[in-house]
Amino acid sequence: MRIRIENCGLFDGLGHAVQPGMHVLVADGAVAEVSETAIAAGADRVIDGTGMTLMPGLIDAHVHIAAATPNLAALEAMHPTYVAHWTARNLSKMLDRGFTSVRDVGGGDAGTKFAQAEGLIRGPRVWTSGKALGQTGGHTDFRGRSRAELSDIQRRHLPSLGRIVDGVPECLRAARDELRLGADFVKIMANGGVATPTDPIDWIQFTPEEIRAIVTVAEAACTYVAAHTYTAKAIEHACVNGVRTLEHCNLIDDRVAGILKERGAFAVPTLVIYDCLDRHADAIGLGQDNRAKNRIVREAGLRSLEILQRAGVPMGYGTDLLGWMHDDQSEEFRLRGQVLPAADVLRSATSVNAALLRRPDLGHVAPGATADLILVAGDPVADIACLTGQGERIPLVIQGGQVVKDAL
Ligand code: ZN
Ligand code: ZN
Repeated sequence: MRIRIENCGLFDGLGHAVQPGMHVLVADGAVAEVSETAIAAGADRVIDGTGMTLMPGLIDAHVHIAAATPNLAALEAMHPTYVAHWTARNLSKMLDRGFTSVRDVGGGDAGTKFAQAEGLIRGPRVWTSGKALGQTGGHTDFRGRSRAELSDIQRRHLPSLGRIVDGVPECLRAARDELRLGADFVKIMANGGVATPTDPIDWIQFTPEEIRAIVTVAEAACTYVAAHTYTAKAIEHACVNGVRTLEHCNLIDDRVAGILKERGAFAVPTLVIYDCLDRHADAIGLGQDNRAKNRIVREAGLRSLEILQRAGVPMGYGTDLLGWMHDDQSEEFRLRGQVLPAADVLRSATSVNAALLRRPDLGHVAPGATADLILVAGDPVADIACLTGQGERIPLVIQGGQVVKDAL
């Protein structure tokens, strides 16, 4: 399939502005030509891009594709096939919003990744950690104080987002087991969480020895570890023990941002989930303790972006939404646009996340790049809200050189 897009604006995923009057040829799954003048080569389809901007397909580096409900304790009791169908619909809607790749950081399984790659379901390309690893009483432990048994949480293949491990031998075994099942990297919970019942957000989770054991397993398998972290202390703890991507980072400070920069780590802020939990606390039935925890991280969110930007830490785009909240996936653009230049936010969701995924062929538009592309009505650098909603202003999505959404 050869597609020629004529006279469009181009945001290439690397620069600072939209270049007007550009011409792009897609052939055999890749970008074949990018030109300021008309391209003569023939094509199966010719698209007039007047008034529109072509840019790389969006990448979300922090999603939970199988979180069929915001109530994560209830999720564990849901029927696995129900959750699988819910996941497929969730992915389809992400593709409509322009996301052509996502990284699942807990709960997604490799079966979904293989189904998408084979074309059994439509959706973004999927990278997944499988189940996240957390300690007893940590951010994968939803038992509260009244339940003792662990069997459901630890044994079910689907649908809980995490498993519970304690001590170096269990950490080694669980990390190896998730990789055996098809995980692309390992996710750990290294700090208290908003949604869990018994772990305040200033609690550090896992010992240095446990984290280093998991990092050793991941690196031996040619991959890396991602960690859930809020406080500066927890971020430092995870980073100095070898974690490569630090998720959330709401309560980071300048000193620890400097450590991330020095070690070449990525930060993946996820502001929209805290905004969403705040707006829908009643509908979700969020407890008073959890609301108080959410308030702390929500208020620090925008400040964390400024700290990370100042330190020059590469910042990925993430959202962390659960259940029906996924409709707000692109609201993260609007939130970040309040404190960061729009082009920087767009790079987070394109070339920065491609580097995070170690996929240099994605996230930019240049000859030889994989043709994951979206056409946006308007100029997203001038008005980042073009990308919000459910993809109403994204009439065309191309993935691997094939048209996968066509509302032109
Ligand atoms: Zn988290
Ligand atoms: Zn998460």
